[in-house]
Amino acid sequence: MARTNIIFLGMPGSGKGTISSILETKANIIQISTGDIFREEINNKTELGLKVKAIVESGSYVPDDITNKIVENKIIQMQANNQKFILDGFPRTVQQAMFLDQLNFEDYIVVYLDVEKQVVIDRLSQRYFCKVCKKSYNLASFKSKKHPYCENDGELLIQRVDDQPEAVKKRLDIYEKETAPVIDFYRRKNKLLTITQHDNINETIDKILDIIL
Ligand code: ADP
Repeated sequence: MARTNIIFLGMPGSGKGTISSILETKANIIQISTGDIFREEINNKTELGLKVKAIVESGSYVPDDITNKIVENKIIQMQANNQKFILDGFPRTVQQAMFLDQLNFEDYIVVYLDVEKQVVIDRLSQRYFCKVCKKSYNLASFKSKKHPYCENDGELLIQRVDDQPEAVKKRLDIYEKETAPVIDFYRRKNKLLTITQHDNINETIDKILDIIL
């Protein structure tokens, strides 16, 4: 059972989602992915989904007030159950980080996956995922043994609309402007664990497990 919560920071495609789902099974910790939450709402055509569809698919950020409220509710739920969690994709702006601070959320480490821009551009163009179980694959490094189908459930794998080149460019531009300052925010608080060489996913996982278990 994990002793502390985790905040993951890193460019789109840096591996936050993949590493989070491995940690979920190894450390009894729950992944809260704001991207997954939005995609699910879009998929189910809920009121929220319809509101954020165009924003998410173009690669822009959903307004902070919407995202903050969703995360706050999730955190309340987790804390009520004494369950440790991973924030994957939140906070993504300094305003979101400040919002977290004023929830008296203290019990966390921040893991920053520092990956080169060209590496993530290459990865995103080759990324496929399963709409049903959410597992993510990569043609270059992590290809499904049953490509183009999911290893878990045999579903046809798809590419995310926002993994198209135009949207990727926009996401990386916004990341540099809005999310890079969040890294400094946590560095100043002495909360940051930076992992640079993380092609070896197992080493990364072990490093994190050492800290949280
Ligand atoms: P990635 O990290 O690969 O960019 P995510 O799945 O985390 O992808 O997020 C997908 C999209 O969901 C983002 O591009 C954005 O539109 C929206 N989103 C996710 N998290 C946030 C957030 N914290 N604030 C604003 N928008 C968000």
